[in-house]
Amino acid sequence: MPRPIQALIHTDALAHNLRRVRQATPDAKVWAVVKANAYGHGIESAFEGLRAADGFALLDITEARRLRALDWRGPILLLEGVFEPRDLEWCSRLGLWHVVHREAQIDWLATHKTEIPHRVFLKINTGMNRLGFAPHAARAAYARLSALPQVDEVSLMTHFSDADAAPDSERGIDHQLAAFEAATRDLAGERSLANSAALLRRGNDPRVRGDWVRPGIVLYGSSPDHPLHDAGHWGLQPAMSLRTELVAVQALQPGDTVGYGSLFRAEQPMRIGVAACGYADGYPRHCPTGTPVLVAGVRTRTLGRVSMDMIAVDLTTVPAAQPGAEVVLWGCSQHGAALPIDEVAQAAGTLGYELMCALAGRVPVRVV
Ligand SMILES: *Cc1c(COP(=O)(O)O)cnc(C)c1O
Repeated sequence: MPRPIQALIHTDALAHNLRRVRQATPDAKVWAVVKANAYGHGIESAFEGLRAADGFALLDITEARRLRALDWRGPILLLEGVFEPRDLEWCSRLGLWHVVHREAQIDWLATHKTEIPHRVFLKINTGMNRLGFAPHAARAAYARLSALPQVDEVSLMTHFSDADAAPDSERGIDHQLAAFEAATRDLAGERSLANSAALLRRGNDPRVRGDWVRPGIVLYGSSPDHPLHDAGHWGLQPAMSLRTELVAVQALQPGDTVGYGSLFRAEQPMRIGVAACGYADGYPRHCPTGTPVLVAGVRTRTLGRVSMDMIAVDLTTVPAAQPGAEVVLWGCSQHGAALPIDEVAQAAGTLGYELMCALAGRVPVRVV
């Protein structure tokens, strides 16, 4: 028998979360962001649940090829554009739309031979300071692109740095929204601004919504502004459940310790379980004692240090649990309970994004 660990990908949850995006942003088209192997869910698995999207946005040409291999004929957008001139041939061959964020990408396009002109998204840096033309340079880049025979339509795009900010903070999206509007006021073309946090919180504003929204994390059922709002608040369902089983049970006496470094010490007699999941499966080693976990659908906590292949859990609230009992590290239990990935991420000092993306290749994935 294989190790009992398994990641379940819930296609109905993906489809549900996509519908939530459409509710929040009526009449905007939706780029389902499936970069990083669909945030760890697998391009092929995620496609099952997200095929009602208007397009797919990602970074890697190899991932774009996987989508075309699934017979997806609709738009695919390369969010960072091409990395070298040769990539443009793949864009022509696979019909990929691509972001243009720096001058060299325009130079490469100008010498590219293609029969079918490319659809491009001109990216404007309104304050994130990662990718994009400065607002004052946007107009010239737009003019250069529009004049190229290799270019079909030019769309306009930016990315928010603080869409998840607390409402009373000085951060937020308004200064970037204003910069984008000023830089693009009289330029024709479709617009794309909003990530998950922006579309959930401000999707009722047509300037934020634009023509295309770009949800990523929300599709996978994690809250983009946790802990301000949790996934339940946004009506999201977890798209991934990481499940395993207890492989051993131990009885501790007062003073007994658990795991490497003896970080947990029993104060009274107690039963603990050992679950077949560790940091080599993608479970964060930083999770301290007390990180929530479900055993047989009952909420309990981890104990001591996470090791490579195993983790100890407290069975005080589940006294009947034996080896073979279901353990849910995040997502849904077959007993009905759920554990939001965002709570586990918070315990580890990170975000749901990182946990799902870090799911290890050795964990078998089952699409349900
Ligand atoms: C990753 C990414 C998104 C999606 O962000 P979420 O916070 O996951 O919704 C949108 N736009 C760009 C440019 C991205 O890189």
